[in-house]
Amino acid sequence: MKNYKITLLKGDGIGPEIVEQAVKVLNVQAEKHDFSIDYTDALLGGAAIDATGLPLPEETVTACKASDAVLLGAVGGYKWDTLPGNLRPEAGLLGIRAALGLYANLRPAVIFGPLKSASPIKDEIIGDALDIMVVRELTGGIYFGERGRREVNGQPAAFDTEMYTVPEIQRIARVAFDVARKRNKKVTNVDKANVLESSRLWRETVLQVAEEYPDVELNHLYVDNAAMQLVRNPRQFDVIVTSNIFGDILSDEASQIAGSIGMLASASLSDGSLGLYEPIHGSAPDIAGKGIANPLATILSAGMLLRYSLGMEKAADEIEAAVSAVLETARTPDIWEEGCRKVSTAEMGDLVCQLLQK
Ligand code: NAD
Repeated sequence: MKNYKITLLKGDGIGPEIVEQAVKVLNVQAEKHDFSIDYTDALLGGAAIDATGLPLPEETVTACKASDAVLLGAVGGYKWDTLPGNLRPEAGLLGIRAALGLYANLRPAVIFGPLKSASPIKDEIIGDALDIMVVRELTGGIYFGERGRREVNGQPAAFDTEMYTVPEIQRIARVAFDVARKRNKKVTNVDKANVLESSRLWRETVLQVAEEYPDVELNHLYVDNAAMQLVRNPRQFDVIVTSNIFGDILSDEASQIAGSIGMLASASLSDGSLGLYEPIHGSAPDIAGKGIANPLATILSAGMLLRYSLGMEKAADEIEAAVSAVLETARTPDIWEEGCRKVSTAEMGDLVCQLLQK
């Protein structure tokens, strides 16, 4: 029987409660699909600060590197808000992403049929459901380029530099095309090639990589148009690939189309199969410990873990189908609607497990 190692970074606030539900779901899928999982708990964020003084202890990095995949809850909370930046919980998050070389961020913006009313977009634009994947470059571009301040004509000025190397563009483009192959085989490249030289190199390189994927359709949009199209006609998109800064903005826009923060998963991938999977929401300290947090974003992140790190497409598809089905009848308070049963965090986890066991 194949055995996998998963490191759990439960973190703070609702982190432990929601990760617990995702672990239940992973265990059901392991039994059903005949594999086993060894879990290692490691400290990150506020929990790590309390225990060691640091938001990202060295042992956590070591444990993650020795794993097949990492599942993260969320970090942060009022208690640590006054610490200096490099010692805050969020520094642990940035640190682990850097330490694992996670250069590709996958953010699905999915509207499950039963949750259509949570979207601010009109029903007729969404259709039956919506499923977009934004693939964002995570370790390059203007957020990491040369920056500084100087005087221009005697006036204070500042600059930031957008720069990408061909290998950086090639590897993120390959991630996007590989992801598209597992979906509807369409990639939309988003850049600003009408103005920016870095975007022109980006587009040339994406076009070259596309030759390796003749089965995947490719089109290009300028970022301003892409922002508009996401709300005008989001159904035209399957996979969107873009740079760090454009992806930062577009993935947030896409997630708002989906509506509910407690439903949105994400994956960050490195070379090789190691990936870090986490909900996009934070540690929700306002509801921590009340047993009412929505665990579905974390459960869907576990689904992405199965798909992208362990290569288990069927087990991942089943999780998405079970989440969609459970929403027909049961909801946590954040997405509750008249006519549905209001359930706790743990009950929601159990219901997903029961559907998977059917
Ligand atoms: P948040 O996402 O934690 O919460 C925003 C709102 O959404 C809150 O009202 C919260 O109760 C609700 N919410 C979030 N997730 C939910 C869920 N699963 N179920 C039900 N309701 C949910 O964002 P925030 O309040 O801005 O930040 C709180 C803390 O989380 C801060 O310390 C922040 O730095 C941290 N944070 C961490 C991450 C991360 O770990 N990746 C991301 C964002 C924020």
